[in-house]
Amino acid sequence: MGLYGSPSLEDENNNDKKTPTSSKFIYCYNCGFQYSKKLKKCPNCGKKPIKKFYNRGWFWFLIFVVIVIFLLSNSDKLIDTTNMLSDTYGSNKISPEEYKEQCDEVPYEDLARTPNEFKNKDIKFTGEVFQIEENNRHVTLLINVTPSIFGIYVDTIYIDYIRTDSDEKRILEGDLVTVYGKSNGIMTYTSILDKQISVPHVIAKFIDLN
Ligand SMILES: [Zn+2]
Repeated sequence: MGLYGSPSLEDENNNDKKTPTSSKFIYCYNCGFQYSKKLKKCPNCGKKPIKKFYNRGWFWFLIFVVIVIFLLSNSDKLIDTTNMLSDTYGSNKISPEEYKEQCDEVPYEDLARTPNEFKNKDIKFTGEVFQIEENNRHVTLLINVTPSIFGIYVDTIYIDYIRTDSDEKRILEGDLVTVYGKSNGIMTYTSILDKQISVPHVIAKFIDLN
């Protein structure tokens, strides 16, 4: 009676019936006994098999936490981009003329000195384009807005603009333009002389060629 109940005897019987190469069986990490994967623990020593890390709940929970943290840390950028696009594509119902009407002329010095006071305000500027960079429909412009002696313009504004369609007339260096859009604080760019320059940033809704 005692013999039938002894684990060692049963183990031997089991081993005889099983094919050792089958993937349906695992080896106990503790005692080396081979047993069916369907069993929750080793029938010989009672130890549970060690789960692979990707089978463990906490591993996926950790991945989830990392993704959430990543999304949260980038949400500012996402919102900025979304605002920029929805603004540019005109999510509001007013006509271009009505929008241009509501834009204020702001003295450059005020904008440069206290940019946060004007953040998200609709403003307009007339100036001369002295640098332009096109990336599909996204156009980045530097314009100088204050005429000085000998017809030279000074006081730079950094402008981001999305062209509404590709047939829209291109803006070229040297053009005199009027820009209507949202003031967006300060932008730092690298000049041709490799100098870091911080200037007012405007996300343009409309740019008229003068
Ligand atoms: Zn075992």
